[in-house]
Amino acid sequence: MKTRILILGAGFGGLELSTTLSEAMGDSIEVTLIDKSDGFVFGFSKLDLMFGRKSETAIRHPYAAYAKPGVRLLREVVTGIDAAAKQVTTDKGVHQADILVLALGADYDVSGTPGITLGVNEFYSVSGAAHLAGVLPGFKGGDVVVGVCGAPYKCPPAPAECALMMHDYVKARGLEGVTRITLVNPLPSPVPPSPDTSKAILAAFSERGITFIPNSRVTSVEGKVVVLDNGTRLPCDLFMGVPKNRAADVVVAAGLTEGGWVPVDPYTLRTKFEGVYAVGDLANTGVPKAGVYAEGAARAVAANIISQLRGEEQTARNPGAGSCYIEFGANRIARVDVDFLSGPKPFGTYHGASEALRIDKEAFGTSRRARWFGALTGEIDG
Ligand SMILES: Cc1cc2nc3c(=O)[nH]c(=O)nc-3n(C[C@H](O)[C@H](O)[C@H](O)COP(=O)(O)OP(=O)(O)OC[C@H]3O[C@@H](n4cnc5c(N)ncnc54)[C@H](O)[C@@H]3O)c2cc1C
Repeated sequence: MKTRILILGAGFGGLELSTTLSEAMGDSIEVTLIDKSDGFVFGFSKLDLMFGRKSETAIRHPYAAYAKPGVRLLREVVTGIDAAAKQVTTDKGVHQADILVLALGADYDVSGTPGITLGVNEFYSVSGAAHLAGVLPGFKGGDVVVGVCGAPYKCPPAPAECALMMHDYVKARGLEGVTRITLVNPLPSPVPPSPDTSKAILAAFSERGITFIPNSRVTSVEGKVVVLDNGTRLPCDLFMGVPKNRAADVVVAAGLTEGGWVPVDPYTLRTKFEGVYAVGDLANTGVPKAGVYAEGAARAVAANIISQLRGEEQTARNPGAGSCYIEFGANRIARVDVDFLSGPKPFGTYHGASEALRIDKEAFGTSRRARWFGALTGEIDG
C-alpha cells in the first residue's frame, strides 16, 4: 500500500512540500493537498493590488493549474484535526494519513482590536487590499496611519514597504504636501535582525517625512483616531492596518497550539505527535513568518520524509535562512538575507535598494510560479 501523506494548506509551505515530494517519489506515494481557496496569492502581491499595480485576477494563481504526479489537490475546508490519529475532517469528508503536515498559515484575529474590520481597513487579506485599492483614489490628503496590531506578524518589513509605497502614491497624486504618514510597529526597529536594513529604511522614512513609532501597537481605531497601547491617540484620515496574526481556529481547537502557535522542533518541524509536522507561519520556530522561510522548512520536511520512505537516515535540517525583498518606492527594491538558525544569533546582510533588484524579485515570483504551476502565461507576477 502507498504511504498516505496529507498536507493541509496549499500556500508557500504546502506547495513546495508537495512539489518536492512529487519530484522525488512520483506516484509511488499518495499525497493529498487540501486548501479551501481556489488559488494561491503571494503575500507581496497584496501590496501591488492595494496600490493599483495589479488586478486581483492577475495575482491569483488558480489551483486548477496545479498538476503533479502522485498529488491530488482538493478544494475543501479543514474543520477538524485529530493529530494523534492523523485524521482530518473537512466539509466534504474524512481523510486518514500516515504522515500529516500542517501548513495552514497564519490567520487574522480582529476580535481584540475594535475598529479593525477584515476586508475593509487592513491590507493583509486579499479582500482588504482590494477594498483599500478602491478607497485610495478617493483619498484627498490628511493623516495616514499604517498600524500593526500585534507581533509576531507575517513579513516583518511589509508595513514599512506599505508606508514607502504610500508615499510614492501620494507623491504621484500631488498630495505629498497635504499628507502625513505614520507607521506604528511593535518591533523596536523596521527589521531587527539587520541593523543595516533598519538604518536604510529609517533614512528613507526621514527623507520622505514618514514618522516611525516603534515598540507600540494599535489597540483600537475610533473614528478618525488611532489608539496605541501606551495611550497615544493619533489623528487618522486613512488607516492601513496589519491585523493581529494567529493560528487558524481549527488548529487551536485541535489543541495543537501553545501561546497561539504550534510548537515544533525548529530544525525538523516535528510536532509532539509522531509523524505530524507543522511548517510555515503556523509553526513556532523562532524564524519570521515569511514565505521564503516556509519554503525552506517545507524542503527540509520533504527531504526527511523521502529519506524515511527510502529507509535512509533523516538528516535534513530547516536552514531558517532566506532573502526578503523590500519595496523602497521609486521603483527600487532592497534585499536582506537573514540567517536565523545556523549561528548563535540571527544575522542579516543588507543589499541596498536598486532598480536591478526588482528583476531579482520578479524572478523570485516567476520561478515559484513556474515550479508549482508549470508553464507561464500572461502577466509576470512580482
Ligand atoms: C502584505 C504581505 C507581504 C508579504 N511579503 C512577503 C515577501 O516579500 N516575502 C516572503 O517570503 N513572504 C512575504 N509575506 C508572507 C508570506 O505570504 C507568508 O509568510 C507565507 O505565505 C506563509 O506560507 P504558509 O505556507 O505558512 O501559509 P500560506 O501561504 O498562508 O498558506 C496557507 C494556506 O492554508 C489555507 N487554509 C487556511 N485555513 C484553511 C482551512 N481551514 N481549510 C483549508 N485550507 C485552509 C489557505 O487558504 C492558504 O492557502 C507577505 C505577507 C503579506 C500579508
